Amino acid sequence: MIDVKNLSKSFGDHLVLDNITEHIEQGEKVVIIGPSGSGKSTFLRCLNLLETPTSGTITFEGTEITSPKTNIDLMRRQMGMVFQHFNLFPNMTIRKNITLAPVRTKLMGQAEADDIATTFLKRVGLSEKADAYPAQLSGGQKQRIAIVRALAMKPKVMLFDEPTSALDPEMVGEVLDVMKELADEGMTMVVVTHEMGFAREVGSRVLFMDGGHILEQNEPHAFFAHPKEQRTIDFLSKVL
Ligand code: ADP
Ligand code: MG
Repeated sequence: MIDVKNLSKSFGDHLVLDNITEHIEQGEKVVIIGPSGSGKSTFLRCLNLLETPTSGTITFEGTEITSPKTNIDLMRRQMGMVFQHFNLFPNMTIRKNITLAPVRTKLMGQAEADDIATTFLKRVGLSEKADAYPAQLSGGQKQRIAIVRALAMKPKVMLFDEPTSALDPEMVGEVLDVMKELADEGMTMVVVTHEMGFAREVGSRVLFMDGGHILEQNEPHAFFAHPKEQRTIDFLSKVL
C-alpha cells in the first residue's frame, strides 16, 4: 500500500531521515517506537507529505505521491492523521469539526456527513457532545473526536503521532480502545507511540527508529522478547 524508497529528509544541514526504505502492506498495524528526536514524526509526516522529502520516493497504492505531477490534496485525503495535540478547530462544534472536510472536499453532502458524524459519535460514546465545542471536552474526548474526524474522510490508512502522549493517564485507555477497534476492523495503521502494551497487543510489526534510521524491526513478540541491537535493548530497558 505504501512504498518508501531511499527516503531522506534534512532540515538545513541536519539529516533527520537517512535513506529509509520500507513497505507497508494493506491491513498492517505498524508501530514506530524510538527515542525523542530519532525522526519518528518526520517519517510519519513524510508519508502524507506534511513534510517534503529531501530525496527518495513515496508511492501510495501505485501512485508516486512525491512526483510533482501528483495531486497531493487528493492523496492526502486518503490518509487520516491524528496528532498529539488533537488540532480540533476551537471555534466549531464537534459536529462541524467532523463534517467540515468531507463536505468541503465534496466527498459527500452535508446530510450524509451529518449521518456519519452521528454514527461515529455513537460508536466512540460521545453522542451527547455533537453540539459542544472542543474546549468543553476532556483531552481523551478531544482525541476520540480527532480520530472520528479523520475517519469521516473514509481514509485508507490512519497515521497516529503519539496520540496519547498529551493525555492524563486515566484517559489513555479510552483512546487506545478506539484505536484497537479500528485495528480489529482491518484499518491499515501506522502508529508512533510510547505505549508498549499497545505495540505488543495490536501491532503487526514494530519498527525501532534511532538517528534517522529504522535500526531494527520485527513482529511484536520477537521484538520485545529478543531485541538484537544494543540501542534497542537500552531503549526498551528505559520504557518497559
Ligand atoms: P521524533 O518524533 O522521533 O521525536 P522528529 O521527527 O520530531 O523526532 O525530529 C527529528 C529531528 O528533526 C529533531 O532533531 C528535530 O529537532 C528535527 N526537526 C523536526 N522538525 C523540524 C523542523 N520543522 N525544522 C527543523 N528541525 C526539525
Ligand atoms: Mg515526534
